[in-house]
Amino acid sequence: TSSILWFRRDLRLGDHPALLAAGDEGPVLPVFVLDEALWAASGRPRQAFLLRSLRALDADLRRHGPGLVIRRGLPEEVLPELADEVAAAAVHVTADFAPYGAARDERVARALGDVPLVRTGSPYAVAPGRLSTGAGQPYKVYTPFSKAWVDHGWRAPAASDPAAVDWVGAPVDELPEEPELVGVMLPEAGETAALARWDEFKGTPYDDVRDRPDLDETSRLSTYLRWGAIHPRTLLADLDARHPHERTFRKELAWREFHAHVLHHWPDSARDYYKPELKGLPYVTGRELDERLGAWADGRTGYPIVDAGMRQLLGEGWMHNRVRMIVASFLVKDLHVEWTHGARHFMRHLVDGDLASNQHNWQWVAGCGTDAAPYFRIFNPTTQGERFDPDSTYVRRWLPELGTDDYPAPIVDHAEQRAATLEAYQHLRGQR
Ligand code: FAD
Repeated sequence: TSSILWFRRDLRLGDHPALLAAGDEGPVLPVFVLDEALWAASGRPRQAFLLRSLRALDADLRRHGPGLVIRRGLPEEVLPELADEVAAAAVHVTADFAPYGAARDERVARALGDVPLVRTGSPYAVAPGRLSTGAGQPYKVYTPFSKAWVDHGWRAPAASDPAAVDWVGAPVDELPEEPELVGVMLPEAGETAALARWDEFKGTPYDDVRDRPDLDETSRLSTYLRWGAIHPRTLLADLDARHPHERTFRKELAWREFHAHVLHHWPDSARDYYKPELKGLPYVTGRELDERLGAWADGRTGYPIVDAGMRQLLGEGWMHNRVRMIVASFLVKDLHVEWTHGARHFMRHLVDGDLASNQHNWQWVAGCGTDAAPYFRIFNPTTQGERFDPDSTYVRRWLPELGTDDYPAPIVDHAEQRAATLEAYQHLRGQR
């Protein structure tokens, strides 16, 4: 009997434990369900990138069989129907730990009745929930988490071989039209592109350059990791072989795993403050909120490094990490806009938009997350620009109007806003 391999955030064929598990049981029907709720909640760059990733996966599958079966609808309705259609013995998946995915999988498992939903592997080197402190509690602080993560280690990449699988097909629904993207350059989608990107980057030690948006020498793998076009374990195995003493890149991957771990243990932290006491800070509302958020989102604040970052987000669906921190700090601590608005804008435009990494990095900057930057740490957008973009290469790349009359004057005075933010914080502390 055949089984179904239901792809979600694991759009690849190599190092794929669930594929290996399904293939061992007999013929496999590869399926992607376009969940209309998730689709509607995704911004255009992510919608476009998903469609391109599905086409790439389909092309890879067609080298070995009839290709990817696309169905549109609610997974809890589509999968039981499909399981019936092909008399599937099981539905194989990579476990999903994000709140929406975990709840959806529970519904699907119930709806499947006697057909088991088999979860093998995760999108992480160490699955969320696996690590806990000596006292059996979930980690709330990154450094001990990352130590435990390294000590725990990870399995070797799964030897999944698409050529060894007996792939079967079924009728396919049409994909939606790709949304029009005006002036947005996305990276090439798919597993081959992800592996090529990794090969080019090669885990080169990048300590001294990773904070420099002008040099642009980070891996740019976040988008591929987000869609599972490559597994972090593939990267770690390669690093162990090529750069056993490299630390920084592993640490960055550990941040991704830490945020997934935090979200798994505190699912409400996706929408709400992890530290609710900071909710009492004064934030702008109404027209002021709209104006400030608008100027920030369009890159019209008059602070070049902030504006360049926001333009990069619109132009590439991606922003350099250093600049993400600067623009987030500026929104919350200079413009007094609540972090949730910024996080929503990021999720609409980022092609690597990932609930765990995005919401928790925002909470880190806003000072209200687990192991957050202290609230009183406020980035100075001018000195950050001087330090990390010393020749103004980055800001000039994204702001052609810089230095002309078209470039706006600063929307606020940083020194004044910094003082106001610190005062509000002291006031709030005084009240407790
Ligand atoms: P590299 O420097 O090459 O790092 C390698 C990998 O490590 C990245 O691909 C990523 O998977 C991981 N990583 C690095 N830094 C972090 C971090 N701080 N947190 C979590 N993972 C990290 N990353 C996302 O993947 N999705 C998001 O939605 C997201 N939103 C963010 C929002 C804010 C406000 C901030 C400050 C950071 C956010 N990040 C997010 C983290 C980080 O900015 C990106 O992962 C990184 O810029 C991606 O570029 P890269 O692949 O070249 O990174």
